[in-house]
Amino acid sequence: MKDFNINSFVRKNILDLQPYLSFRDLNEFKNPVFLDANESASGELNRYPDSTQKKLKQKLSGLKGIPADQIAVGNGSDELIDLIIKVFCEPKEDAILMMNPSFAMYGFYASVNGNKVLLLDLDENFKINKDEFLRTANENQSKVFFLCSPNNPTGNSVEDIEFYIRNFNGIVVVDEAYIEFSDNRSCISLLDKYPNLIVLQTFSKAWGMAGARVGTAYSSAEIIALINTVKAPYNVNCLSLSKIMEAIDQKDFAEQNIKNTLAEMSWLDEELQQLKAVKKIYPSDANFFLTEFEEVEKVYAKLLENEILTSKRSPKIPGCIRINAGSREENIRLIETLKTII
Ligand code: PMP
Repeated sequence: MKDFNINSFVRKNILDLQPYLSFRDLNEFKNPVFLDANESASGELNRYPDSTQKKLKQKLSGLKGIPADQIAVGNGSDELIDLIIKVFCEPKEDAILMMNPSFAMYGFYASVNGNKVLLLDLDENFKINKDEFLRTANENQSKVFFLCSPNNPTGNSVEDIEFYIRNFNGIVVVDEAYIEFSDNRSCISLLDKYPNLIVLQTFSKAWGMAGARVGTAYSSAEIIALINTVKAPYNVNCLSLSKIMEAIDQKDFAEQNIKNTLAEMSWLDEELQQLKAVKKIYPSDANFFLTEFEEVEKVYAKLLENEILTSKRSPKIPGCIRINAGSREENIRLIETLKTII
């Protein structure tokens, strides 16, 4: 990674752009009169949110042990996936690389932005074949590699992540949406070592705040500045910002939520193992199980009939349904319904 020049990976027109920064957010005022943004003088939410999200970044900086200028905040990590593609992938020319199966939004945003999607097929245990990775990564013009670990929908973590970061001639995004449920160390600790690394995390899973739509990206200050250049100025609203900051101040909820979720995962695992309808439960480092059923269509339909919504992965992943851990009450309802299937 010597002689790494980030600008050689950036879309040409982005290099000339400046981020939209509100003057107000860049300065401190004692007793300001704000007549600069065509807001209303009164109302509960009359002011625009801080476009730089500095208070939240200060808190995240303390929480993650990383400087604030190495953090970007998005309207969910979904938005950050879109922004990363916008920064690095020239429409019609560049492709993204992603594992298959993996989180569908990488492909979705690549397509919306006019970029091709290269798929790296996982083996029968949902692992990456390193030779296949090297071949695909070298033969094709892919700028960004999305590595989801733990992976959605398979649940397993990517082994030897550094191998992929070292051997990819472009930007590697490690999506850690489910990291809090796993024993793995976050790749944030690798940021000093790899200038081509971006780590994504979210408040939607372990923090129980999917409705707030807040995700975070951690990377070099240069890459973060580029992400901030292409983001909408007020991408995270006032209500979400204050709720997330409250949650960070009292992080016992997240800690308890992780413990409860892991306890429910063990309970579900045991209960699912005993069911005749279940063929295989794939090991999971996340808050869900990819589960294979003998008669997947029948199972899915039965669950739906009982208003139990799960995520059918068949036929793409034959016979499989992804089921996340709910509350004990919800999990009991799931198991009891599955028991009625003969
Ligand atoms: N990455 C992965 C792997 C996910 O599974 C999800 C949500 N399903 C996201 C990102 C998006 O999360 P957010 O709610 O922060 O947009």
